[in-house]
Amino acid sequence: MKNKIEVLISEEKLQARIKELAEEIKKDYNDSEVLFCSVLKGAIFFAVDLMKNYDGDALVDFVRVSSYDGENSTGKIILKIPLKEENIKDKNVVLIEDIVDTGRTFNYLVEYVKKMNPKSVKTCVMLDKPSRRVVPFKADYVGFEIEDLFVIGYGLDYDEKYRNLPYIGYINEK
Ligand code: 5GP
Repeated sequence: MKNKIEVLISEEKLQARIKELAEEIKKDYNDSEVLFCSVLKGAIFFAVDLMKNYDGDALVDFVRVSSYDGENSTGKIILKIPLKEENIKDKNVVLIEDIVDTGRTFNYLVEYVKKMNPKSVKTCVMLDKPSRRVVPFKADYVGFEIEDLFVIGYGLDYDEKYRNLPYIGYINEK
């Protein structure tokens, strides 16, 4: 039988929470400019919707790292598209990631950004799997906490597929 994709978080729930997150971030930064830095590729759908809902001064940048091979974390983080210090220096950076799992990627990225002398750095994540942490990490803004489940959709892939689903789902292998 063909594997079925089950919906974990519907498009409506995602969009409603993203609106709340954008308002929360705006309250914290108020009139200060924010540099939204999205982690490619997984966070782009989330980052775009978050930024469209953000009613304040904002800049946009991207960084690309990879740490996964299929469903297995290699534990190694490879910087594929770096940031430029001239774009980060003295900025209020909000790093946007799709999901925190072991915590390794975000820990690496926060330290990487800090070396470029930003004015401040905060972290925003669509999904958090706290039960999977290997290194301590707590994001400043969290969309949803989820159980230990391999999820796909809304930017998240399984071997590069399923990123275009408008919801968060998982593959039911039964
Ligand atoms: P961490 O470094 O926190 O272990 O992992 C972060 C990265 O692992 C995420 O950016 C994401 O690419 C990948 N990842 C972790 N959990 C999942 C998952 O459930 N589904 C998918 N598609 N990717 C995941």
